Amino acid sequence: MSGFAHKYWTCPFYARDELRRSDGKRVLKCEGGTRLMFYDKICFDRYADNYCCRNWKACSMARNLLLYYDEKD
Ligand code: SF4
Repeated sequence: MSGFAHKYWTCPFYARDELRRSDGKRVLKCEGGTRLMFYDKICFDRYADNYCCRNWKACSMARNLLLYYDEKD
């Protein structure tokens, strides 16, 4: 388990997650600088649990990063 949310991140592009103290929004940062912001913990957990921790290949950001690295090879 890692990150602010202490989850088992399976996506290889996960970089970090944090709570933005100024407004309580959850922020998810991925490799390459992609950043997702969630209205609250419920929204964050729903997305992170379904994609980043379970089915990361279904995430559009992950698919784009895979395409990027495939094209670089
Ligand atoms: S699943 Fe998508 S949003 Fe989650 S860490 Fe991977 S690239 Fe980022």
